Amino acid sequence: MPGLFGEHPATESLDSLSSVGLLDTTLRDGEQAPGVSLSPDEKARIARQLDAAGIDVIEAGSAVTGPGERETIRRVTSMDLEATITSFARNVRGDIDLALDTDVDGVHLVVPASDRHIEGKLSTSREDVIADTAELVEYAVDHDLWVEVIGEDGSRADLDFLEELMAAALDAGADRVCYADTVGHATPDRTLDAVSRLADLGPTSTHTHDDLGLAVTNALVSLAAGADLVHGTINGIGERAGNVALEEVAIALDHGYGVETMDLTRVYDLAQLIANKTGIPLAPNKAVVGENAFTHESGIHTDGTLKDESMYEPYPPEKVGRERRLALGKHAGRAGVEAALAEHGIEVVDAELDAVFERVKELGERDKRVTDADLLAIAEDVQDRDRERRVRVEDLTTVAGSGTPTASVKVVIDGVERTEAAVGDGPVDAAMNAVEDALGRTVDWNLDSYHVDAITGRTDALVTVEVEMSRGDRSVTVARSDADITRASVEAMVDAIDRLVETETEPLVADD
Ligand code: MN
Repeated sequence: MPGLFGEHPATESLDSLSSVGLLDTTLRDGEQAPGVSLSPDEKARIARQLDAAGIDVIEAGSAVTGPGERETIRRVTSMDLEATITSFARNVRGDIDLALDTDVDGVHLVVPASDRHIEGKLSTSREDVIADTAELVEYAVDHDLWVEVIGEDGSRADLDFLEELMAAALDAGADRVCYADTVGHATPDRTLDAVSRLADLGPTSTHTHDDLGLAVTNALVSLAAGADLVHGTINGIGERAGNVALEEVAIALDHGYGVETMDLTRVYDLAQLIANKTGIPLAPNKAVVGENAFTHESGIHTDGTLKDESMYEPYPPEKVGRERRLALGKHAGRAGVEAALAEHGIEVVDAELDAVFERVKELGERDKRVTDADLLAIAEDVQDRDRERRVRVEDLTTVAGSGTPTASVKVVIDGVERTEAAVGDGPVDAAMNAVEDALGRTVDWNLDSYHVDAITGRTDALVTVEVEMSRGDRSVTVARSDADITRASVEAMVDAIDRLVETETEPLVADD
């Protein structure tokens, strides 16, 4: 078996790259992920964020999909973004006309490159594909479009033919050609071979998929072979196993080679926006943007991190717009527990720390993440401190259904009972609005994250709601379980507020 790059002594080090562009196709290839449909408003918002992050080219959609999609692309082209805005187009003149109708700057002309696509899908011939491609490139160029020709299924194409096809496209005036590993089939060797041959012809892009888990590797190998524009999606969403994740390419280039591509500090917000709008959650262990990417729980790692922040991290979380988190659980160490207590202003003597540490481990062993609220309750118990809650829910009634969601809450604040009713976007929102009314003061806390887990897969399941809320520079995590998701949510948030106002010296209840 020929080894990795064995026959390619000419591979370039990425250190010598002068500039690499990023093309985002979240709105086209990403939206082709099963079950994803983005509204025009959502697409416009995503495009704006991509542009703000310095993405060079945004493929806004496929004009041929229908009038709704064209309307959406038009929304994006009318926003006057810095990025080049493009549409997908098949090897058909009508597709180019429809793209022109949306005022895009350019098109990706997708032409069949493998015999499987040429003969099996389109029943045409290699000769006809070359002739049609040249003709359509000329047509698009004549209409002032930036043109990139993508050889579909290029990774499974006969490379002599792929080279011939792409040379014809460039001869006809295409701005660039793109190597497409449409089904994520290629090894790094194959990628290097194919892209080197195309990059010798002219400006070359690379479009890799993750079916073999090689999308990032193949994108980087493409750059080493001479490509200079990487197609990908935020969070790597896309058909099947998805496209290459642009944020992974961007951080690998920055961290490994000092090559800047986009504003990395915006990566996390973008990732969350895409996860929320597509309904495709981020795996906790996902590189760069997964919940655990900068979370340390094990005692050894926490201890090391407290001594030197970079002990167990390749780069600081701030670089990608995130924060480091030390979590408590069954793997916790004494140093981590002590640091977590100190964060909440709690000092302990050695014997107390031992006791708190033991109980944190015990709780963690019961298959639980130990929240700040758990830790604080354990510390109070160990130190035999009686704590008066300052805010608690006495009673909660919500009405939801076809009408306006409404909630009425009875809250006890510093011993004073208050009843308020409010409306909201949903029952939880309505209840929280009522709680805020009851407090009658400017709300200065933030809900940083909200997470729901169902314990069983049935409608009577107990759900656990975990929230993280912050006020000033203090933040707390709280989890509450209940069969009623609204109650669990409201109680978790009120518990968190109660913790956040613990040291507040001003009276909590405003005068009427
Ligand atoms: Mn694709």
